[in-house]
Amino acid sequence: MTHDPNCLFCKIVAGQIPSKKVYEDEDILAFHDIHPWAPVHVLIIPKRHIASMSDVTEAEAVLLGKMTALGPRLMKELGVTNGFRHVINTGPDGGQEVLHLHLHVMGGPRPWLKG
Ligand code: 5GP
Ligand code: ZN
Repeated sequence: MTHDPNCLFCKIVAGQIPSKKVYEDEDILAFHDIHPWAPVHVLIIPKRHIASMSDVTEAEAVLLGKMTALGPRLMKELGVTNGFRHVINTGPDGGQEVLHLHLHVMGGPRPWLKG
């Protein structure tokens, strides 16, 4: 499935729900988390609907590589200078709440809300 009409992040990709975008290309969108755990907290998502890491295969290796490598670039652009965290939650026990694959990238001075 490329687009799930009931998916929150697919709606953000489609512009049906507003977001504070920080990066966009033909495959990837990045925007600020609405409830940040850290002073800087962005979500990097594939534009195509992939529900979670459980659905990822080698076919997504380049996409995941691009998403991962975008993290440091965005942290730098957003003024994070002292380190950051990449987090991906998967499934109920992994604490995943939105069923559209997303990479959390968080930085900025501690203390943070979580993690
Ligand atoms: P998860 O728990 O699935 O790994 O993370 C979902 C994240 O999406 C949470 O950190 C939550 O704050 C964020 N989130 C949920 N709804 C929205 C929304 O409508 N807009 C934005 N920008 N972030 C959202
Ligand atoms: Zn989706």
